[in-house]
Amino acid sequence: MPVTELDSSFYRLLGVRAAVLRLDETHPQISGNKWFKLLPLIRRLEAGERPKLLSFGGVWSNHLHALAFVGQRFGVETMAFVRGHPGQVETAMLQDARRWGMKIRYLDRETYARRNEAGFVESLRCDHPGWEYLPEGGSNADAVAGCSEIWSLLSTSDWSQPDLLACALGTGGTLAGLIAGKPADTRILGVPVLELGAQAESSVRRLLGEAGRDDPGGWELDLGGACGGYARLPSSLAHFICTFEQRYSVPLDPVYTAKLFQAVNRRIISGKLAPGSRVLFVHTGGLQGRRGMQARIDRALSAFQGPQPL
Ligand SMILES: *Cc1c(COP(=O)(O)O)cnc(C)c1O
Repeated sequence: MPVTELDSSFYRLLGVRAAVLRLDETHPQISGNKWFKLLPLIRRLEAGERPKLLSFGGVWSNHLHALAFVGQRFGVETMAFVRGHPGQVETAMLQDARRWGMKIRYLDRETYARRNEAGFVESLRCDHPGWEYLPEGGSNADAVAGCSEIWSLLSTSDWSQPDLLACALGTGGTLAGLIAGKPADTRILGVPVLELGAQAESSVRRLLGEAGRDDPGGWELDLGGACGGYARLPSSLAHFICTFEQRYSVPLDPVYTAKLFQAVNRRIISGKLAPGSRVLFVHTGGLQGRRGMQARIDRALSAFQGPQPL
């Protein structure tokens, strides 16, 4: 069963039962939630379809990494538009992707910023006829459908209906899927890892709509967990990662899951959860991306002044 219980005096004293759904252990290369986001595509490939796939991402994108692997596994062409410039040192993520046959095209900052504009996407499609387009992070209707199936992993576990299920949010496809598939009495909490403001909620609603799913309600976002922005790593977060990993032997990535646990634990400390609540955290993976931040984690750790409650 892919659930790890988190047994510690922290949760016990605060009257909460906590566990982690280990999507990070789903597949050695296709990171965590990205396996579920790509699941409808993987099924089409297994059925013999051979689309050419084009997408977007940063130089440590877990989505591009997963897509490149799927492309090479099924022998389909993949292409990525990456924020950056051709002369820069290639990250380990991009080296993997290239090794798996993904074509890399760099876009400068201003051009990349237009990645979600309808006109821009349309002109890109015209320039690349015959290529199927996946948005940044892979968040489309298929991703919502695939992520709603995450619940099936829990069907035979005693965690099939937690009081609260908590998950990090980037582009929102994963959370939309978890909302679409949730049991009626389970509440969902999303923790955006970027400073998205009200846009985070509207993205989730839009994705539910695109996937033709009703919004069942019973979900909310914690907008206080982003630590100042995407991939920001204050020394307190580095310390949190270190303490958490020592305590539970569950590895975290600094961009998504560390912020998730930190934000939810703060809510627990501030009494936002009823005593006796059962909280299930979704470990969405992302550990390949951690390769790019280890030196920063170490540096931030040495700057930490402590103490902080876990
Ligand atoms: C991509 C990713 C997310 C965010 O998923 P969205 O569907 O974009 O919200 C969360 N955690 C990890 C580890 C990821 O790689």
